[in-house]
Amino acid sequence: MVDKKNILFLNPPGKKIYIRDYYCSKVSKAYYLPQPVDLLMQTAHFNSDHYNLKVIDAIAEKKSVAQTVQEASAFNPDLIIGLIGSASLEEDVAFYVALKQAIPTAKIACSGDALLEEFDAKFKTYNWLDLIITNFYSNGPSLWFTDQADEAQGIVYLENEQVIEKIAKRAKPMDMAVPQQKLFTGNYRMPFANAEPIATVLTNYACPYPCTFCIMSTLPYTPRTAESIIEELKYLKAEGYRFIYFSDQTFYQSKAITKRVLEWMVEVEYGINWMCFSRVDVVDEYQLTLMKKAGCKLIMFGVEWAENERLEHYKKHYTVDQIRATFKLAKELKIQRLGTFLIGVPGQTAASILNTVKFAIEIDADYASFNVAVPRSNTSFREEAIESGLIDASVQVMDQSGERVTMGTGELTRDELQTIKNKAYRSFYFRPSYLFKRLANISNWTEFKAHVIEGTYVLKGIVKKNKED
Ligand code: SF4
Repeated sequence: MVDKKNILFLNPPGKKIYIRDYYCSKVSKAYYLPQPVDLLMQTAHFNSDHYNLKVIDAIAEKKSVAQTVQEASAFNPDLIIGLIGSASLEEDVAFYVALKQAIPTAKIACSGDALLEEFDAKFKTYNWLDLIITNFYSNGPSLWFTDQADEAQGIVYLENEQVIEKIAKRAKPMDMAVPQQKLFTGNYRMPFANAEPIATVLTNYACPYPCTFCIMSTLPYTPRTAESIIEELKYLKAEGYRFIYFSDQTFYQSKAITKRVLEWMVEVEYGINWMCFSRVDVVDEYQLTLMKKAGCKLIMFGVEWAENERLEHYKKHYTVDQIRATFKLAKELKIQRLGTFLIGVPGQTAASILNTVKFAIEIDADYASFNVAVPRSNTSFREEAIESGLIDASVQVMDQSGERVTMGTGELTRDELQTIKNKAYRSFYFRPSYLFKRLANISNWTEFKAHVIEGTYVLKGIVKKNKED
């Protein structure tokens, strides 16, 4: 009998609550910590009949560097599939150096926003790194690990000191095995979940839209088959999960597939609430109605700005009026709406940001997330920021939550941007009518607990920033 190889899926420890998934790393600014989706999807490609599998999510399990290295060493992995983030880059690099010293025989493969370009330089700088995963949806790492790299996609590695890049392309709907959610035992939570435990599900990879500030537009959009998604939903229900976070960048993008899945959920009375991200021009009245019937509790929409010129400049391809109309429809159907807003783009003034806050209130968003623009690798937005002299081309450390603002706008300094972001949160969340509505809508203990913890996080963040300002 052949010994099974040991595969470790690893989210490194951190001094803060880092979220490093889906090529977008940030400091969690709230009661928000889903399963790291890159690792979760990779578990679908390593069958536990053939491998011993283990997950250490040192962030969700609150493990220190020493504890993580010790636990990883005790497992003695042959392959480590890990995450690395721009928001935690220095800490992560130091961690992997220590890990490689402790387990020199383990191969290390990493996915994350810190590794998406300049591969040659990355391998030279990080000599502990054996494989870069540029598409965590694909089975590239498992093929590479079993000496079948020729057939792989979405990976980069060294062969005879040459960088070999296996580019992933847009693909037909994938028939994927069920990701092994039960391996993830940390304290996962979402502020909008009305039941626990939560599960994370990805029904498609990347995004086909061209928004120039977003890394997702540079990745090859790949859906899953309806059958593969339904299999996973059956497994999650049988395992006792009680809330689902669909972490697709744009849920309902593949119309026929999503319709089939939602109709199945209605037909079998699936009975689990869920939330997702989508676009205001992807879901219409018919689709929103079906989503509601299938258990949708909340949709997060990327609103970004209250100005058509900016929406057009950054290729969002919808208008302020479309945003208004979809928010109104979702509200009528009693689906909660979260708007995400991007502040701090080149040339943006304080007045423009405050206008954004006014717009968030006007469209009656239940929640608002004010994210600071980040010049992500491979985006034309990054080129624009470099050309305007707002950042140096060498800038690698960045954090979308705004914990560390990477660049000013030309009109506002980095410090001013921090202050105005803080003001945006205060103006949106500290309205008496808003607070009353939130409290009145709490329907159970899980929601109450999430609101109390979420509120404490927001308050702590604001008090801390006020002290710093
Ligand atoms: S629609 Fe959203 S996820 Fe897709 S490219 Fe635009 S900003 Fe990115």
